Amino acid sequence: MAQLLITGGAGFIGSHTCLVLLAAGHHLVVIDNYDNSSPESLRRVAELAGPGASGRLAVVEGDIRNAADLERAFAAAPADQPIEGVIHFAGLKAVGESVRDPLRYWDVNLSGSRQLLASMQAHGCRTIVFSSSCTVYGLPETVPIRETAPIQPINPYGHSKAAVEQLLADLATSEQGWRIARLRYFNPVGAHPSGRIGEDPSGIPNNLFPFVSQVAVGRRERLQVFGGDWPTPDGSGVRDYIHVMDLAEGHQAALDKLMKEAPQLLTVNLGSGRGLSVLEVVRAFESTCGRPIPYTIVERRPGDAAITVADPALASERLGWRTRRSLAEMCRDGWAWQNANPTGYGG
Ligand code: NAD
Ligand code: UDP
Repeated sequence: MAQLLITGGAGFIGSHTCLVLLAAGHHLVVIDNYDNSSPESLRRVAELAGPGASGRLAVVEGDIRNAADLERAFAAAPADQPIEGVIHFAGLKAVGESVRDPLRYWDVNLSGSRQLLASMQAHGCRTIVFSSSCTVYGLPETVPIRETAPIQPINPYGHSKAAVEQLLADLATSEQGWRIARLRYFNPVGAHPSGRIGEDPSGIPNNLFPFVSQVAVGRRERLQVFGGDWPTPDGSGVRDYIHVMDLAEGHQAALDKLMKEAPQLLTVNLGSGRGLSVLEVVRAFESTCGRPIPYTIVERRPGDAAITVADPALASERLGWRTRRSLAEMCRDGWAWQNANPTGYGG
């Protein structure tokens, strides 16, 4: 079993992935500055992983932009079992905020990744799984989207992800031995089925699922559906939602492949290949929680695409991985989390 460094491991996707990796027997060091998370998530990960596993989780509070903080994280691994691989979740992800404050996005997402890669190089660690996003495709010309589609982001968040992807490709060219996976996630939602860990956005959620579940739990009055006149079957936007546990297992599959094969640069979509409309999500959530989700159809949100759906064939072929969980399970598990933790980790 490997010793791994997980950046941003206290966050939504990171916490679920830590749990899956601990269950698989790995040893983890997490570095997180809690900019968008709470230490409580990792406390619960340790609790869910059980007493035998929690001893394999070390947590370092620190910032990936800071070389000394990264040194502390590398030093948290035992001397005879140094960090062999990194899963790099740490970053900022709010599109609107990235438009208002591009310097911060380029700083955390690009400078943070650059510093992380420099520290890895200094420690002779050349295996990394990177959280990229379907945002790098911008407004897709054709769907489903294949990995060969043009990279043409339309906002600073997407530009910063595309830039890190390029940096990783440049590193792979510069020096032999790098094992790199660039994973382009589609729309991660849901929670661990225990309802103990889940997504805890601060302020008003930007994303559909957390907004819907906050309406269901009574924290918000009604959903605004952004556009009812899209060229889709029911007029609302269509996305490829992926259960966060499927996504966590996708990271495990990518890591296993990198560790057992020759050095490579792997780029895959992580999505289901199935499009669901906003109104389909609302109806599924209503039937899960047994409550109506009031909504109003409003103007389209600037920058939105009508339909974004992954072609998941390459992930299946290269990783032997595909999504297994249904929309009903995304709603069931997301609702279990929201209902038991109406105010997230703070409550
Ligand atoms: P999240 O905000 O829940 O997790 C990110 C974590 O990184 C948080 O715990 C945060 O505190 C930490 N962090 C931020 N800046 C840091 C810094 N400078 N140093 C150390 N830690 C720092 O987000 P998430 O949804 O779990 O996303 C994880 C990654 O996946 C991000 O890179 C994101 O861009 C990417 N991604 C997310 C989605 C999505 O819809 N959730 C989609 C595609 C890609
Ligand atoms: N959406 C919506 N109301 C909201 C949030 C999102 O109608 O309050 C729609 C949005 O227009 C898109 C879909 O839900 O069609 C998914 O949006 P989200 O922000 O979750 O993901 P992304 O835009 O990144 O795909």
